[in-house]
Amino acid sequence: MRFALLMTICAALAGAAQQGRVRVLILTGESDLAYHDWRISTPYLRQVLNNTGRFEVKVMEEVRGLSASGLAGYDVLVLNYNGPRWGPQAEQAIEEFVRSGKGLISFHGVTYGEFYGQEFHKRWSASSKGDKGWAAYAELIGATWKPGNIGHGARHVFPVKWTDRGHPISRGLEETFPANDELYHKLDLLPRTKVLATAYSAPETGGTGKNEPIIWTAPFGSGRTVHMTLGHDLSAMTQPGFLAAFARGTEWAATGAVTLPASISSRPQPRQDAARLLVVTGGHSYPAALYTLFEGYDDIIWTHAASQAEAFNPAMKEKFDVVLLHDMAETIGEKEKASLRAFVEAGKGIVSTHHAIVDYTSWPWWYEEVVGGKFFVTALGSHPKSSYQHDVEMVAKPVKGMANHPVIRGVGPLPVVDEAYKGMWLSPAIKPLMEVDHPLNDKPVVYLGPHPTARVIYIQLGHDESTMRHPGYRKLVRNAILWAAGKMAPGGR
Ligand SMILES: [Zn+2]
Ligand SMILES: [Zn+2]
Repeated sequence: MRFALLMTICAALAGAAQQGRVRVLILTGESDLAYHDWRISTPYLRQVLNNTGRFEVKVMEEVRGLSASGLAGYDVLVLNYNGPRWGPQAEQAIEEFVRSGKGLISFHGVTYGEFYGQEFHKRWSASSKGDKGWAAYAELIGATWKPGNIGHGARHVFPVKWTDRGHPISRGLEETFPANDELYHKLDLLPRTKVLATAYSAPETGGTGKNEPIIWTAPFGSGRTVHMTLGHDLSAMTQPGFLAAFARGTEWAATGAVTLPASISSRPQPRQDAARLLVVTGGHSYPAALYTLFEGYDDIIWTHAASQAEAFNPAMKEKFDVVLLHDMAETIGEKEKASLRAFVEAGKGIVSTHHAIVDYTSWPWWYEEVVGGKFFVTALGSHPKSSYQHDVEMVAKPVKGMANHPVIRGVGPLPVVDEAYKGMWLSPAIKPLMEVDHPLNDKPVVYLGPHPTARVIYIQLGHDESTMRHPGYRKLVRNAILWAAGKMAPGGR
């Protein structure tokens, strides 16, 4: 009874993990590092599959210990490996996995190496001398390659032609696609393989003058395998034709069907509800690392304006959810003022960073009612001059009771060497989230501005590149952008 219950729970958990996604395991960890560096290609292949939203991908870099139970729950294996044998347990587990109706996809340099045995491979390590190879390996790949035939002409750009356009992998794709790759030749395909695509191997580039098979499928028990000879390096893999064949081939090997589109992107695609961010600079230098604060997220789309005229116009209200200010300007034009004010009054988001606290001396509404703080470069009326000091060691900590505010959740204490500001004007209406305790700096360093409808945040830190590279600071800026955009779920992201 207890056992049955446990099985039910395990099955439920496995189902929850899958969420309808194809479960992929990439087998990797060894290759020729000069040309086919798995350390570079494996993360890329993983990202390509993950970006489609169709797959859940895990990576195994040490395959020797693999067993049948280690493969349970996966649908397809991606082979990106050329190195020593894995041993009978792992090799049998892989065979059984595919034979039972699962899939395997492989590409490029897996067609030679120690798996093929001494007869087919000359570069032997002493320990594997006399080894006859992994008997089922050729059948899993669908081909062998006699040592004298292993090779290709010069790497070049050539058209690959889908010769079978009725297969799920190729259906709906253009008849040809350009490859930027090595055109492998003289492979011996096993009788039950089914060639889907070929390319003409031109003698001028050192080829055979024949159409060489490029992509094929092979049956293995009740399972499916796909091989493509393409994929020499990242430049080869980034070709749209490679991406489509690889991702669709992986899906087909796993399921026997293809639902993926013809076009597969190698970069993360922004979500429909991503925060639309405008970053404004001008009037002060800054580390180029600033730009890295906004990169690599699927929930932030950003663009950059280097002047007020470029940034603040009537269209900004429709185009953006958040403006991040990293500019420094005492004055602002009347037209720009009107557009920025309309943006704020529409309830949009403002993230003001570092020297942007100097902004718009000519416009008291901005610093008194929107940001709630101001650094005075010179004394003005009742406001005395503020001061700054570079390279100050400070620790920014959450203000008591504020540690769970979404903007600083998960940020932690921030030890930085950054620019200190002191003697700023601060509105009594700001809501401090983080503070420092340092004689050269005013206490609040992260706070919410007083504006009643817009979501406004000021972050003082951010002069130095080391601050911009700090994971805690990066999380703070990201949180601030998402919160200001109204895109942050109550539990945070
Ligand atoms: Zn190669
Ligand atoms: Zn600075």
